[in-house]
Amino acid sequence: VGHRLYLGMDFGTSGARFVLIDKQGTIQAQGKREYPLLYMSEETMDWVSSWKKTLFSLLEDVPVSLRPLIASISIDGTSATTLIIDSTTGEPLWRPFLYNESCPDALPIVKSIAPANHTVCSGSSTLCKLVSWWNSDDSNKEHALLLHQADWLLWLLHGKLGISDYNNALKVGYDPEHDSYPSWLLSQPYSRVLPSVKAPGASIGYLQEDIRTQFGFPKDCVVCTGTTDSIAAFLAARATQPGKAVTSLGSTLAIKLLSTSRIEDARFGVYSHRLDDKWLVGGASNTGGAVLRQIFTDEQLEKLSEQINPMEASPLDYYPLHAVGERFPVADPKMVPRLQPRPESDVEYLHGILESIARIEAKAYSLLKDMGATQVDEVFTAGGGAKNRTWAKIRERVLGLPVSRAIQTEAAYGAALLALKGAQRDIDIP
Ligand code: ADP
Repeated sequence: VGHRLYLGMDFGTSGARFVLIDKQGTIQAQGKREYPLLYMSEETMDWVSSWKKTLFSLLEDVPVSLRPLIASISIDGTSATTLIIDSTTGEPLWRPFLYNESCPDALPIVKSIAPANHTVCSGSSTLCKLVSWWNSDDSNKEHALLLHQADWLLWLLHGKLGISDYNNALKVGYDPEHDSYPSWLLSQPYSRVLPSVKAPGASIGYLQEDIRTQFGFPKDCVVCTGTTDSIAAFLAARATQPGKAVTSLGSTLAIKLLSTSRIEDARFGVYSHRLDDKWLVGGASNTGGAVLRQIFTDEQLEKLSEQINPMEASPLDYYPLHAVGERFPVADPKMVPRLQPRPESDVEYLHGILESIARIEAKAYSLLKDMGATQVDEVFTAGGGAKNRTWAKIRERVLGLPVSRAIQTEAAYGAALLALKGAQRDIDIP
């Protein structure tokens, strides 16, 4: 077959990106698009049309000369972004529910049918969105079908309605361990709108012929199931062995660890996504870069960090939060930020804050281990704080582990790796 390429697309919260890689994972082309502002009425954004337009804009952005080499395509979307469509036409029956939208009306109903502390027991879960729509729309629901954002965009490419992946389907209640919807969900009248579920990066079918010929993709180009945006970002770091982890140092501190065992603890907001025969365990603390930004400019952060000796432990013990309340690794909604006493020297102050955040990170990994996850042995870093080399050295000392910056952190790169996986799998396409 010769030289082939793999296309990943990420539909994130603020825009969409594509990354085209070769078999070695080297990027051959990439690009991004903002979502065009299309309106249904004066106030209501037409998200469905905007996403669709963006999808085809990204395909146009892929260099014409590289398109004939593309073997497979995959897409990630924002978790819990939900569409209710007509299963005969694919047209939306209802406006889409966005990832962060809450449906408090459905929460008591969902809590009454789901096991205690299940992932669906949150107002913004896909299941709450489904129940809220089911109870508010009086029209005929015979042909209704639920799809996640990534499923629907992939459908535009392959044309087979009703397919999702077990990462996107987790928040609608799918059980990835038993690879089925649980009986408490299947006994509900709305269970017939649920999509069928495959592993992420499984080939679904060939790219539709009209799209293929319009854009100049090859005849054997397959479309593969996707995942959620945060899982795609983890996949980008290529941390494929149990014990490898990614700490994201953005506005908040989020950790994700590849584990051989599944762990869940609603008190700490800890849960696991399936990745083939392993589990991706995640937790998020409210500490992180937002506090740093309240005190220092990014330029100050760089200058001051250069003057810190990372080999020396700071005696200052803070709990940097930008508002009251913490969830993980300490579950305390009333926790008060602690950033006192402030020394005269800003270098010492920053050293104390970076060291304290590193201690919280260490506590987070050790809590996951206590809960039964695989012990972490190497940490990759993503987010705005990843470029701080002094901080990485402080973290290596405090964690007692190798810490490095992840080479790739774009979710679109992770989606491209899923496309590569889908193309390499020997699955017969019906
Ligand atoms: P978001 O979560 O908003 O996407 P980013 O990943 O863009 O965040 O990271 C932004 C954060 O990175 C800011 O809160 C900022 O304080 C922090 N940051 C920027 N530069 C540095 C630096 N040199 N050292 C540590 N933190 C930094």
